[in-house]
Amino acid sequence: MADERRSAVGAAGDGPSGRSDAMSDAFHQLLAASPLPMWVYDLETLRFLEVNDAAVTHYGYRRADFLAMSITEIRPEEDLDRLHAAVAGHWEATQYSGAWRHRRSDGTILEVEVVSHRLEWEGRPAVLVVARDLTDTRRLEAELKHRTHYDAPTGLANATLFADKVAAALARPAPDGAALGVVLVGLCALDAVVSTAGDPAAHAMVSATGERLAACCEGRALPAHLGGGRFAVLVEAPEPEIMGLAGSVVAALSPPVAVTGWGELKCVPAVGIALAPASARDAADLIRDATSAMHHAAQRGGGHFVVFNAELRAAAVEAFETERALEAAIGLGELRLDYQPIVDLQSGETIGCESLVRWERPAVGLVGPDRFVPLAERSDLIVRLGAWVIEHALAEASTWPARVGARPRVSVNLSARQLGDSRLVARVAEACAAFGLPPSAVCAELTESAFVATDDYAAYRTLAGLRELGVEVAIDDFGTGYSSLAYVKHLPVDVVKIDRGFVAGLGTIAADTLLVDAVVRVAHGLDMRVVAEGVETEVQLDVLRGLGCDAAQGYLLAPPAPPERLGEMIDNARRVVAGARRDS
Ligand code: C2E
Ligand code: CA
Ligand code: CA
Repeated sequence: MADERRSAVGAAGDGPSGRSDAMSDAFHQLLAASPLPMWVYDLETLRFLEVNDAAVTHYGYRRADFLAMSITEIRPEEDLDRLHAAVAGHWEATQYSGAWRHRRSDGTILEVEVVSHRLEWEGRPAVLVVARDLTDTRRLEAELKHRTHYDAPTGLANATLFADKVAAALARPAPDGAALGVVLVGLCALDAVVSTAGDPAAHAMVSATGERLAACCEGRALPAHLGGGRFAVLVEAPEPEIMGLAGSVVAALSPPVAVTGWGELKCVPAVGIALAPASARDAADLIRDATSAMHHAAQRGGGHFVVFNAELRAAAVEAFETERALEAAIGLGELRLDYQPIVDLQSGETIGCESLVRWERPAVGLVGPDRFVPLAERSDLIVRLGAWVIEHALAEASTWPARVGARPRVSVNLSARQLGDSRLVARVAEACAAFGLPPSAVCAELTESAFVATDDYAAYRTLAGLRELGVEVAIDDFGTGYSSLAYVKHLPVDVVKIDRGFVAGLGTIAADTLLVDAVVRVAHGLDMRVVAEGVETEVQLDVLRGLGCDAAQGYLLAPPAPPERLGEMIDNARRVVAGARRDS
């Protein structure tokens, strides 16, 4: 090796240009020290005249082999014509640069960027070449491109690539008889998995779903992961086949997934389909319509698919209009609050009053919260609506001691999304200060699913902030969500409100009585109080009292009514409890 090297350098003799020994020495030093592969080739014979160490290392040919080859031998066959043309160009141009493919001794092909310079070498026309290997750069580029187009947890196309593919498919004519379908898949209750089993379990769920979806689509459709529990499929096929695919997606994603440490976890898939040209004009429309159909499927519990159609579009448009009208309604004073007493089952006294929002919509009439609160919850509108409710409920409650001679706690319903409002605690504190109401006279009611969402740290801090302020926290609609009795003890709550669905069966359905009994025992063991909702009959009231339930709310005691009727409601509730006690 050392000998070869000496002879090669020696052969260079009086240097590349023959101009001076000093130049020649400098040139050879540069060549030897260059980290980039360099060589000199004979412009007539195309043989290598000189190569540096970097070329030997990088290309894998021994120096002697290099010097026995011509530059055509390190090219793929199909590049030779282009090579000869470039070489011919060197008779005219002294400088050249371009991208080439070179072959290493092991046969692998390198992508290189080459700069070449025409010179004279030992009296012969020659070319000096510097090559920079682009393989790593290209690989990084490709990786980057992959990362911008594919999703790490599942390896599927991501939302960006999916939208591009849908757009591309829409731009070309569909094959005869085929429709273009976007199938949107949502995993219901993935949030619940996150909050009960944690992120790693949810990731396992998502990646298993990705695999199942990919298997389902293999060879006939493009699966994608849009993020979180949302997946999508792009399919071009006759409509019945698209429906068939959607059906098999539902079937494939329905079985539970085995997750280490958690046994089997289940997230029911909800699937929505939008078809082009029937449904949509562009990719964004198609994906939006499919999403909207998916939400419809999800609202009915999932486990099936819904095809987007004119009816759904009309419902979506109506929802959109209602949402806008509601936004205006807050400022126009069209909202009002009714109140419903929460009554102590021993004393018959009203210990709390729940505020329930209503919308007096001009030309429509009185609209109940079930018809507009869920709409507001889709956006930050709920935060504005919630702020309105807090302010008005607290203002009203501050008048009670003077007006009705009692100070029941005022309950305000909060949506999960309001817990994400960083101003919530301050809002409540400010309203309390403004109306001279102690925070302990306020109760925040949150549904079980809102508690499930408190896995989110910001939401948890808000909840903790409310309790630090002195606000009482109640879990609403208990029994309808995912939480088990065991879960309750981890919740930062003071009150458990049993959903009216269980109260309805008291005294008639044994299981309901057992459940309420168990909730009361567990809650009391944890120092929490229990309120039964939706009490409509004296039988229910009796059973509740027998089970040691603390308080009740319902039409039997007093239906929700405007605050002017509060005194009347309190009296009525007292009478009902006294009457029931006398009877039993
Ligand atoms: P909720 O918090 O469970 O409120 C109790 C609902 O049950 C009220 O319906 C009330 O009118 C009804 N109710 C009371 N007693 C009885 C009874 O004996 N039998 C029956 N069948 N129903 C009874 P409403 O006022 O229509 O409210 C529905 C839901 O809307 C509320 O359920 C609550 O989740 C939500 N909501 C109401 N106001 C607000 C609010 O200001 N903010 C938020 N985020 N949600 C609210
Ligand atoms: Ca409530
Ligand atoms: Ca409730």
